[in-house]
Order: sequence, then structure tokens, then C-alpha cells
Amino acid sequence: MNSEKIPGLYIHIPFCLSKCPYCDFYSSTSLSVVPDFLDALFKEMGMYRARFHSFDTVYIGGGTPSLLSPQQLENVLMKVRENFNLLSNTEITIETNPADLNRSFLESMRESKINRINIGVQSFDEKVLDFLGRRHSVKQAMSSVGDSRKAGFRNIGLDLIYCVPGQDIESWLDTLKQAVALSPEHLSCYQLTLEAKTPLGIRYQAGEFLVPGDALQHEFFMKTSQFLEDTGYLHYEVSNFARGKEYTSRHNQKYWDHSPYLGLGPAAHSFQCNQRWWNHCSLDQYLAAINAGNFPVEETETLTVEQLGLEALYLGLRTRKGILLQDFQNEYHYDLLAEKGKILSILEEEGFISIRDGTLTPTQAGLAIADSLSLI
Ligand code: SF4
Repeated sequence: MNSEKIPGLYIHIPFCLSKCPYCDFYSSTSLSVVPDFLDALFKEMGMYRARFHSFDTVYIGGGTPSLLSPQQLENVLMKVRENFNLLSNTEITIETNPADLNRSFLESMRESKINRINIGVQSFDEKVLDFLGRRHSVKQAMSSVGDSRKAGFRNIGLDLIYCVPGQDIESWLDTLKQAVALSPEHLSCYQLTLEAKTPLGIRYQAGEFLVPGDALQHEFFMKTSQFLEDTGYLHYEVSNFARGKEYTSRHNQKYWDHSPYLGLGPAAHSFQCNQRWWNHCSLDQYLAAINAGNFPVEETETLTVEQLGLEALYLGLRTRKGILLQDFQNEYHYDLLAEKGKILSILEEEGFISIRDGTLTPTQAGLAIADSLSLI
């Protein structure tokens, strides 16, 4: 089904120096396990040599990949190249924490041919950083962007978080202004979600603070979109903005358009043809499986054409690229216009979607309610 598309490679580095109280990603603070993990990761690469051959995107995420030493990062990419073919224009992204970035580290990353850096800035407001339990300051965030530029990065992305308790629209817009002043090529703006089992989620349930209600959340979203579009950024996916099409994330696009991808490391997900599988979340289980010569896979699911179609609808309505109706029909055997014509024309009249030249796209207002749109 997706076998003709070029796959992407995701590598999960499951370590953090400390755990942020809002985060529910899998990561461990036991850094002494890093060498064992890297040995297992290299073995896992070897296990997939026969199933995946070439990639044109590599995304080193986490966790905090910038906790690895330059030598360890270089080894990761060397092993990737030993096991797989990276096409000549491969986008290689690394997620980083501003506190870990200095000129020599950044220059080593460029020497390892990493060409895209994502910096987890989250906010340019010290109070918000404090509330989020981040281990970097505003000053470090600022200098990490400047240093990345000086080290030769031409594709810099900043991650930011909004709807933080105590934050108002003005202070969020101030963070956005400071971000834009640094001219990053890419911005990801995520709304804070408080998962029940995280320390912040527990404090919220205990009534320690309030979170913005639905109307205010919507206002945050629309103000973000308007401000960034007015300053020249393309709002190309619900949470993502790029300074031109050439700076949209090619790797993330693979998740949104059902391209195949291989995920290595604990908790990483993979997708190929109509199969999705994911690795053990726990580092111990991951290491034990690999050291016993087994794939560290927790579970595999086989998706029907109908399930794939529903996913494609959900994912397509989250991107400004939208859904090419004829391609959708060919791939998922479903004629959206014939089956859902009535509801689609209501949504178009209400300004949530647009149907032009055989493409269904969400409008700016539609992106704000993308999850509901996919329930048509
Ligand atoms: S650094 Fe990132 S992955 Fe690690 S705990 Fe904080 S938010 Fe989660």
C-alpha cells in the first residue's frame, strides 16, 4: 500500500537528566545505562536490514538526544549508514535541550551531517519555564539559537508550549515575538496537556491551579496562527509552522501521509504496508529482548483498508496539504464526496474546510477543531 514511498527512520534516545513534571514520554534518568542502550540499538538496526533499505529522513528524538556525547552521536549515525542507505538529500534532525548546547557540541553535530536542529525552548518567560520544571533558562534558550546558527545550522526549529496555567495571551504573544525575532525556520507550538499520572496532572487534580477553559484555549490557538501567519510563517499542520514550504518537517510528513517509517529504541513505533508495531516501553524489557536475540516488539497490529482510510482522514485534516480526493478513493476505496457530501458542504459553508481542485483542506478555523472534523 505505501511500499513505493521512501521510509523515514526514527531513533528514540530514552534518557533525560531530570523528568519534566508535565511529560509522559518514556525516558529514564539512569544515564549509566547509555552504553548498554547504544549496543542494543546497534543490534536492533541490524535486525531490520532485510526489511528496510533506504531512508531519506532520520529523526533522533527522545528523551534528550543532546545528552549523548558528540562521539556517541557520531557512532549512532555511522551505524545507521552501515546498516542502511541514506539518500543524498536526507533530512537528519536532532531534538535538543538548550542547556546542552555549546559551540563545540553544535559543530560536532554539523560534522556528523545533522542538518536540522529542534531546540526545546518551550518559553521565553522565566516563570513559565519554572512552572514547567525545565532545566534551562531564557538566556540559555536565546544563546542556543545563536550558537546553532554560528555552528552552521540553516534549519532551526523551536518547540514552544502554550496554555500554561497562569499564562495569558499577552505573555504568550511576547514569547512568540521573541521566538520570531530569532528567525527560526520552523516553530512547533503545542498546547499543554496535563496527563493524569504526571506530577503536574496530579497537582491539577488536587486543585492547586486552574487551566484555561475551552474558549480561552481556542483563542490561544487562533491568536498563535494569526500572529505567525502575519509574520510570514506557514501554518501547515495543527501545531507546526514553517518559514516556507522548504522548511516543513519532511520526517513528520511521513506520519501524516502514511509513508512507511521504522522506529528504533524503547517505545518507538513503526509502520509499513498495513502493519504497525511498537517496541517495549521499558528500557529493561527492550534490552532483555535484544540481548536474547529477539525483536523488542511489544505488539503488532494489521490495519484494514477501512481503518487506514479513517486514519488518513484524521491525519489529512490536520494538515494544510489536506486530502487529494481521487488519491484517497484509489487508496482506501472510499469516495468521500459521494459518501459524506452533505456534511462536507455544511462544513464548507461554515468556513471549516475548503474543497477546491479535487482537494479537501481544513481552513485556519478548521485546524483549530481538526480532531472533531475527522469525526464526519
Ligand atoms: S526533556 Fe523532554 S522528554 Fe525529557 S522529561 Fe522533559 S519533556 Fe520529557
